Amino acid sequence: MKNKIECHSYYDGSIRYMACMNCGRYEAVGETAFELKCSRCVQMIVGFPEEPKGYKPTGRPAGWHFMAEYVDKDGNVFHRGKEIPKLKGTLKPTKVKPRKKAKRRTKEQMLVDRHNEKKIALKKAVKKQQDFINHTINKG
Ligand SMILES: [Zn+2]
Repeated sequence: MKNKIECHSYYDGSIRYMACMNCGRYEAVGETAFELKCSRCVQMIVGFPEEPKGYKPTGRPAGWHFMAEYVDKDGNVFHRGKEIPKLKGTLKPTKVKPRKKAKRRTKEQMLVDRHNEKKIALKKAVKKQQDFINHTINKG
């Protein structure tokens, strides 16, 4: 068991982004950071007076940071999570596919699927053989 879990991070050019350990929001961090509390969560903890109460959903899909291009409903354009202000309002909002379709297959499910594929292939082979036999019998 690992004691130190590093938060997920990725590079965008030379800037390193890391997932907040609390809410998963990505924020730019330094090279050596291994955990991050994003500014929003820090604000929640220290309680900035400007911060409205309660969490305001952004309406953005999970993983939008990783999209080559993402346009939110206000027309803000993001390239891999980075806002491109000059493109604002020039593109149509990205349509987000329902989450169900993006469901990831578990390892177990993959094995089951593979097994089923084999079963189908076997069934087809058997059917073919039977057809051949039936055909031969009918003929005779
Ligand atoms: Zn956070």
